[in-house]
Amino acid sequence: MLKVMPIAAFKDNYIWLLVNPANRHCIVVDPGDAEPVIDVLKKENLILSAILITHHHHDHTGGILTLLEHDAVPVYGPATESIPGVDHKLRNDDLVFIQALDLELRVLEIPGHTAGHIAYYGAEMLFCGDTLFGAGCGRLFEGTAEEMLHSLTKISELPNNTLIYSAHEYTAANLRFAATVEPFNADIQKRIQDVATIREKNLPTLPSVLQLEKLTNPFLRCHIDSVVKSAQEQTHSQLMNPVDIFRTIRTWKDTF
Ligand SMILES: [Zn+2]
Repeated sequence: MLKVMPIAAFKDNYIWLLVNPANRHCIVVDPGDAEPVIDVLKKENLILSAILITHHHHDHTGGILTLLEHDAVPVYGPATESIPGVDHKLRNDDLVFIQALDLELRVLEIPGHTAGHIAYYGAEMLFCGDTLFGAGCGRLFEGTAEEMLHSLTKISELPNNTLIYSAHEYTAANLRFAATVEPFNADIQKRIQDVATIREKNLPTLPSVLQLEKLTNPFLRCHIDSVVKSAQEQTHSQLMNPVDIFRTIRTWKDTF
């Protein structure tokens, strides 16, 4: 049974560490900083087997080369983004097998936040970088609203029990926006309470569960009447197309 733990980095990043307790081998996802990873490897007496990268942003990749100086391990990443250190370039539906963890992950291309952004899915877990957050989604730096909505729809088609390992602790702030978009959504109100309790203890709100995201994340709810109505009120128009609804709430969130 794998153990998954967050390594906190920078202000609000999580570098996810997957450990096989039986042999102490591990992999890291999106090591933006090497130092906190090296500290944990030493402290827990772990052997790094591979590095997985979701997209090129520095807060996800900045630690790769320093980690490689310590351990020459394979580095997996998106085929269409240029990232120093990545030597296994991945495309949609590629399979990554990490033997030391007996773990197979399937690659999903999910452009929107960046043009080549990928996610890794396997063992009921999704490592989705900056595409899906607790109650939110990533900003559109390189992709279009249409691409991002398509990517989020692809994620929403995974099994409902999928654990969502996002790369930032944004859930509380995202829920304040979600409650503004859907003031009468009781699931959002309940999640606000739950997240407040978790954050009081300084614990991560992640992983989330896909089912909960479908109930509380406005960006996965562009087809739901209450979200459509709020988007229409924002633009004073009769938007109906899910892409227009998505674009409206994404733009609204950018200045919230
Ligand atoms: Zn990013």
